[in-house]
Amino acid sequence: MADCIFCMIANKEISSKAVYEDDRIIAFYDMEPQAPVHVLIVPKKHILSLDDLQAEDAELAGYLMLKVKDIAKELGLENGYRLVNNCGEDGMQTVQHLHFHLLGKRKMTWPPG
Ligand code: AMP
Ligand code: ZN
Repeated sequence: MADCIFCMIANKEISSKAVYEDDRIIAFYDMEPQAPVHVLIVPKKHILSLDDLQAEDAELAGYLMLKVKDIAKELGLENGYRLVNNCGEDGMQTVQHLHFHLLGKRKMTWPPG
């Protein structure tokens, strides 16, 4: 999708510091980290948000979820982590391409702001 920053990252039109990549997903460091480790896990397919996932995306969604623990392990998050999806206006989603924040290496607080 033209003008989508995460599509551009997936297509290497914008550089990122990738920690994992395959044909379906890419994970890279967030440019404004909110924790010592803050990585975004992104399907390469342009899906606007979690609310826009379709039944046909079930395999991709499951694939991405199963990769989370592998990426967390690779990043040394053996003490735990938080996986966040901001969806839509009230969820404070700012990039309109589905992504999950993987945050770790600090104690999280609850509830989130
Ligand atoms: P959200 O608010 O959930 O939509 O999160 C979007 C995230 O993307 C924010 O944490 C931004 O810091 C991050 N972000 C935006 N552009 C880039 C970029 N070019 N490289 C890395 N992270 C980015
Ligand atoms: Zn996109």
